Amino acid sequence: METPDLKNLIETFFSCDKGELIRIFEELLSAMEAEEVLPPTKMMSQNYETAQANPEINTLPGNLKDARDAVFPFFWGTDGWFSRLHLENVKGPANYASLVGTLACLLKNPNLCVDTYSQRSNELEVKAITALANLLFYHIDSPWGVFTAGGTISNMYGGKIGIEKVCPETLRKGLQGEQLAGIVSTAAHYSNSTLASWLGLGTENLHAIPTDENCALRLDLLATKLDELFNSGIKVAFIIATFGSTDAFGIDDVSGIREITEDKASKYGMPVPQIHVDAAVGWTLCFLAEYDIEKNSFGFDHSILPVIPRIQACCRSLRHADSITIDFHKMGWGHYPASAFVVNRRNDLVHLFRSKEEIPYFCEAEYRRDPALFTLECSRPAIGPYSVMASLNGIGLTGFQILVAHALEMAQYLKQRIESLNYCKVLNLNTTGPSVVWWVLPKGRDAKRIFRRLEAGKLAEKDYQRYFHEVRHLYDRRKHMMNPQKDACLSFTTSMGYMPNDIALPAWKAVIFNPKTDRSVLDQLIVSIEEL
Ligand SMILES: *Cc1c(COP(=O)(O)O)cnc(C)c1O
Repeated sequence: METPDLKNLIETFFSCDKGELIRIFEELLSAMEAEEVLPPTKMMSQNYETAQANPEINTLPGNLKDARDAVFPFFWGTDGWFSRLHLENVKGPANYASLVGTLACLLKNPNLCVDTYSQRSNELEVKAITALANLLFYHIDSPWGVFTAGGTISNMYGGKIGIEKVCPETLRKGLQGEQLAGIVSTAAHYSNSTLASWLGLGTENLHAIPTDENCALRLDLLATKLDELFNSGIKVAFIIATFGSTDAFGIDDVSGIREITEDKASKYGMPVPQIHVDAAVGWTLCFLAEYDIEKNSFGFDHSILPVIPRIQACCRSLRHADSITIDFHKMGWGHYPASAFVVNRRNDLVHLFRSKEEIPYFCEAEYRRDPALFTLECSRPAIGPYSVMASLNGIGLTGFQILVAHALEMAQYLKQRIESLNYCKVLNLNTTGPSVVWWVLPKGRDAKRIFRRLEAGKLAEKDYQRYFHEVRHLYDRRKHMMNPQKDACLSFTTSMGYMPNDIALPAWKAVIFNPKTDRSVLDQLIVSIEEL
């Protein structure tokens, strides 16, 4: 085929027109700048009604502006989470160092399956994983890992290694009727149910252990559960501990879990399960692992100084994990997808290895380093490593310490302000993260007393249901009345993780994720509660 069209296509879409690209990016950046001054709720509304009816595609070849026009309304209609009034959930603005890294990655579009598809980008993945592993485990023998498409997939790697460890050869032979179990806490993320079902274990074989009031898995109940399972001859493939639960930031005691599990396994002659830690949100606390609180060189607020040694103890216990999930696209302020699955001992990955015969077109793969030999994915983006290394080196260790400490300081401040109101109760007063979950009841009610009575089992169901209804009603009322120019956006959870007497606790929720969120935003939040 020798048409002028092919030549045009090559010139327009496969030759880099720097001027045109810069112009279009400039336009996108300007649109974003304009949006940043709007209140967070003023987004363009969705139009699902005809989205399916009109999936139009241009017929004739166009140019890069057609590409821009095809996505622009959706770009403009999408929130970049820049506003300091966004406190809803674990989402927020990605940092611009990450943008630089991510764009560089997209320009080359490497595929991290094997070295020959990615050259030095594979090397960058090794660097990024090692940097994160050093931060998480400190002194370790042989950390290794891969970037995945999200915390769910990273947790799935942990679960899969566990299954293969206690029931070897399942990769080839399947479970062969073996009933296996997995263990999490009631505050664990739902991705653990996903992996239990997808890995063939079945959600009914995933046991959720109740937590204490700080949303940490109760070790006494873990011991009981292990006795029960091992006694019936059921092998436990994995225990997935939570390091920072999504709503209330509960942190499980990983060294306690390790001790009890090894003890019980040896007592019953059972294989030791994989102890995987889901630190998707909680991992950034590790930036404070070595902060010297005596010197307090950043002058952290006295409200958070006592919290830091507790954080440091939690971080030290991570070395007892076999593997860890971290989401850099959450509190690393990186771009999606930048989740990492990190193992403490590289040899554990052997459990996932496929043979080279199974991957004929990667016959050049090397067991020493090529991820394609064990990853779930075949093609794998390099956005994670680029986002991580650009962010870590742009912002720096100290920069991350300041960002994390700021989030903790603000959360602590908000907890104190809310707790001082009689009709409010902070439900996660003693957890050590950036999230706050609480009740707002009608003025005149003694929220603390109501909470104590509920915990003590002294409230009839119709009473606590009425209180829960009030908590929800006041949340909806604030949402209805709020001034989008100054009132922060919050979210609501129907179960914050701690379940006294098996009762799920609904709560208002705020997460200090945006570094721009300051005391004035939180003061105004208190005003909006007082005015209800
Ligand atoms: C967000 C989250 C996940 C899931 O991670 P994705 O990256 O959204 O797939 C898992 N565990 C916890 C604790 C989380 O907060």
